[in-house]
Amino acid sequence: MILVWINDIYEGVTTFVTGMRTTAHYFVENLRDRGGATAVTREYPEQPAEVVGERSRGHLVNDADRCIVCHACDKACPVDCFTMDGERDANNKLRASRFDIDLSKCIYCGLCVRVCPTDSLSMTTSFEVDPHQAELGRFLFRRSTPQLDQRLDAPEIERLRALANTPREALSTVDRDWLDARIDPMGRHLIGVFGLGYFTPEQKAAADAEREAKKKAKAAQKSEPRPDPGEKQEQKP
Ligand code: SF4
Ligand code: SF4
Repeated sequence: MILVWINDIYEGVTTFVTGMRTTAHYFVENLRDRGGATAVTREYPEQPAEVVGERSRGHLVNDADRCIVCHACDKACPVDCFTMDGERDANNKLRASRFDIDLSKCIYCGLCVRVCPTDSLSMTTSFEVDPHQAELGRFLFRRSTPQLDQRLDAPEIERLRALANTPREALSTVDRDWLDARIDPMGRHLIGVFGLGYFTPEQKAAADAEREAKKKAKAAQKSEPRPDPGEKQEQKP
C-alpha cells in the first residue's frame, strides 16, 4: 500500500518536472525571440505567423476559370455556401458566369475541395482574418488572383477603400488597373473576404432569397403527386 502511494508521488513529480521543462524551453526561446515555428504565442496581427503548416485550411480559393459548373461542391457543402450560374462559351463548353462562396458561412471542412473534379477549388495557407479591418468585409475580390496570399497593409486598405468608393469614370488608368486586379468590376467569380459576408447586405439578402425560393420550388416539385401508372395504361387504346 505504501509502495503504491510512493509510486504515485514519484509519477506526479516526474510529470510535473517534464511539463515545466517543456514550458521553460519555450519560455527561453521566446525570450530570445527565436520562436519561429515553435513559438507558442505570437502577438497577431502585429506579429504575423512566419510558418504555417502545409495542411492548414486557411482560406478557400476558387480558380473559377477551371470550373465546369458541375455543382458537386454545391451538393457536398454542408452549410450551403455556394451560389453559381453557368453559361456556354464560344466552344460550347460550360463555364461559371457567376461563382460566389459565402465565407461567412464556410466552416472550412474541405469537402468541396475533395469532390471538385477539376481542382478548381483549393485551400490556401493564407489566413489573414483581421477583425479590426471589419469594413473590408464588403469588398469583393477576384478569386483567380493570389490576392488572398498577400498581406494588405493599412495604406493599401485605405487606397482600396477610397478607390472603391470613387465613380469608375473618375479613376485614373493606373488606379483602375490597381483596383481591377483586386475587385472584379463585372461581379463575376467573387467571394467575400475575412469571413464577414459577401456582397453588400442587400445583394446577400437577394442571393439568399433566390436560394430559398429555388429550394421551395424544388420541394414543391417533389411533393407533387406522381401520375398513377395504372391510369396511363387505361388510357391506351
Ligand atoms: S469548405 Fe466551406 S464551402 Fe467548402 S464544403 Fe466546407 S463549408 Fe462548404
Ligand atoms: S466541384 Fe469544382 S468544377 Fe464542379 S462546380 Fe464546384 S468548383 Fe466547379
